[in-house]
Amino acid sequence: MATRSAAVTHSYVTTTGAGRAELRWRARAVPGSKDPNTASLVELGEQVKQIVSSSSWWDRYGVDWCILTAGLGLAFLGMYLASYRHPLLFASGMVASGAGHWILANKGAHLAIHNALAESRRLNTFAAWFLGELAGAFSSRGGFDVHIKVHHPHTNVVGLGDSSSFRAPFLPKYVYMFCAPLLVPALSPLISVQLLWGQWSAMLSCIVTIAAGLYINHFLLVHFSGFSVLGAAAFMLASRSTFGLPYIHVNIFQHIGLPMYSQETRPKRIQLMSTGVLNLSRNAVLDWVFGHSLISCHVEHHLFPTLSDNMCFKVRPVVREYLTAHGLPYNEDTYMGRLRLFVEKYEEWMVKLPPITHFVGLQ
Ligand SMILES: [Zn+2]
Repeated sequence: MATRSAAVTHSYVTTTGAGRAELRWRARAVPGSKDPNTASLVELGEQVKQIVSSSSWWDRYGVDWCILTAGLGLAFLGMYLASYRHPLLFASGMVASGAGHWILANKGAHLAIHNALAESRRLNTFAAWFLGELAGAFSSRGGFDVHIKVHHPHTNVVGLGDSSSFRAPFLPKYVYMFCAPLLVPALSPLISVQLLWGQWSAMLSCIVTIAAGLYINHFLLVHFSGFSVLGAAAFMLASRSTFGLPYIHVNIFQHIGLPMYSQETRPKRIQLMSTGVLNLSRNAVLDWVFGHSLISCHVEHHLFPTLSDNMCFKVRPVVREYLTAHGLPYNEDTYMGRLRLFVEKYEEWMVKLPPITHFVGLQ
């Protein structure tokens, strides 16, 4: 396995399964480290709880609200800059608009559906609708169903939270990796309809909200930035596509290529998340646009999903130390390192069925 861990303590042994490759994850004995089977999420949770209870509101929520406010500012700054026809200002406007959109629609909506934006559930529910559905053109209920109900509790369990919704094996490698992600904003409303198919009233409400959000954005681009009707639509689509590539990359980089389990072979939660989740290296732009929980603290996010981005970052050293002390992996890699690997192993990781892993523990 090419993933870098804080301490490389494990290896894989391929065995023959019934018609499908199978792997056995086993830890190598490292002097001083404990048996991975003794790791306890309750024990780690106590340490994290202490950090959370001694943190201020600013640390728990304030920092992330500031970034969301900056996202809103960027969206408007982008519309303002785009009113200039100077190529550099226009391009800056497009990037600023795109960054603002993704901060609100991805970072903000993701935290909101996890109830990680505030103590109040009502405020989180409203924020998920406002940021995800109205501003982001993606169903907040559909997002909740696939992300909260399936991906998080069943991370890397084949047929459930195995990130297979991000696979498109019919697409050639370079089309999938570098072209198709640009269509994410255009496809989001259609995917929302697909997710809500059969829940007719929810689907109708979602369509009305998405249409209203697109109309408001379009209206502002025509009346504030001075675009024509067609020009505003084109700018909206193009600016929202700016972070489509990293969005798809990040979503596949952090799980695919790591151990995948079946319902029967899934280990306990702390081992599942330690082996099946990867943190990307810190990156100023991606940390801001997508948030720590989706970039450099994805492991922490999967272990403690109701923590805000800033709190995930704050508990990171404790989580890292606990996992490595118990001989469990703390997977980390750079964005470019992961990109190279996915281009190299596209067929194996994105097209073929993943092998089933058995967590053995210490041997
Ligand atoms: Zn999440």
